[in-house]
Amino acid sequence: MESLTVRAARLAESLEQSVQDFIVASDQNLGDIEVQVERQSRELQRQATEKAAQAKADVSPPVCPVCGKVLSRVSRDHSRTFESRFGPITVRRARGYCRRCKKWRFPADTVLGLADTAGYSPRVQEMAALLASKMPVNEASAVLEHLTGVKLPRATLDREARRQGQRARQVRRQEDEQACQVAKKPVQPELVLEPYQMIIQMDAWNIRERDEWGKTEALRQGGKEPERWHWVYTGTCFRLDHRGKTARGRPVISERGFVATREGIDGLREQLHAEALRRGLGQAAGALVIGDGAVWIWRLADDRFKDARQRLDFYHAVEHLAVVGRALFGEDKDKLTDWLRPLVRQLKNQAAIKVVHQLEDILAELPAGAPAEVVQKEVNYFHEHQDRMDYRAGQRRGEPIGSGAIESTCRQTQCRFKRPGQYWSREGDESLLCLETFWRNGRWQLLFPHNRQLDLSKN
Ligand SMILES: [Zn+2]
Repeated sequence: MESLTVRAARLAESLEQSVQDFIVASDQNLGDIEVQVERQSRELQRQATEKAAQAKADVSPPVCPVCGKVLSRVSRDHSRTFESRFGPITVRRARGYCRRCKKWRFPADTVLGLADTAGYSPRVQEMAALLASKMPVNEASAVLEHLTGVKLPRATLDREARRQGQRARQVRRQEDEQACQVAKKPVQPELVLEPYQMIIQMDAWNIRERDEWGKTEALRQGGKEPERWHWVYTGTCFRLDHRGKTARGRPVISERGFVATREGIDGLREQLHAEALRRGLGQAAGALVIGDGAVWIWRLADDRFKDARQRLDFYHAVEHLAVVGRALFGEDKDKLTDWLRPLVRQLKNQAAIKVVHQLEDILAELPAGAPAEVVQKEVNYFHEHQDRMDYRAGQRRGEPIGSGAIESTCRQTQCRFKRPGQYWSREGDESLLCLETFWRNGRWQLLFPHNRQLDLSKN
């Protein structure tokens, strides 16, 4: 085979020719030359990658990548073809038997990062994982080929992304355990320069799954309606001093942890706790949990964030005031607004108990009946959350009074996971959600370490 140097020289020549042709082609703009340069360089890039892979495989020592034992019955030249960023490459590797693991091993596969895949290079594994977590797989396959030339049929892209998602879940488990281990060590107080509060928000949304696909009739005959909708539990956490405002006054958070899981409330509790620890919960002067009225949020907070203050999302409280308003004024929107506006202002800027007392006064005047029942229910609601409505104090301290941060994140994630007619499986969901959290949390390079190369080039 020709050396890369010779190949490169020939490529340079053909690129020169393309430039000349481009200059005189009146119907071509920069896009045309971009495509030509890309297409012509691809073979050289592919060969460089293949050469590097082969050379690295050749020097990989014949030891078991799992247990480290020297392999026996080693034979060479087992070839395997992988799809790389620049097209298919073929690598010939050594194979040996590990007597301890009682398995055949290809040490070069591990060295090259090809072990955990159905035949794709690490960069292609990453592309499959990222695209599948951002868009439906049939689109992902077409977009990938269009932008990069990498051909990954829909079904294989899906399979590869799920495999990477499974791997991501393992990495997450290790990371979460490590975060909890680190947190057990005593903190050196002088490390915390400025005391800060940790804000934690939680919410949940529904996803459609077909985990009992095809069994619908059998289930129905057994008197059971198949469950298709399931909860995705989500949480976010950030330091209050990382929250600022744009020039236009819109709140922005510079660093924020994010968790989304189909592993139930237990899964959320462990994952969110680990995330909060990574973001500095252990060194925080205090913590604040914000959520809507859902009982599970406060149970989880009592359980895992015992010392945190709790706050009911302001806008949920307002919705409950509106329920009272509708019970009193029916469809009369003007009366409802006139009644509601001062109460909302009071709830925000004065002690919440004043608002509750007014509702109680109204209730005392009402004759028995449906409206009174509604108002009674809402009065109970406000009493239950009385200690979670310190909006005035919260605003003075510059804290959020609503759970808008997690709600907007939920909306974004739902765009991907809640398209009409889409069904998911629990395992598939969790894998893709896990990939999504690594991406959002800025820890993508833990899954695909070659990204540190890209970070270096930024500096
Ligand atoms: Zn072994």
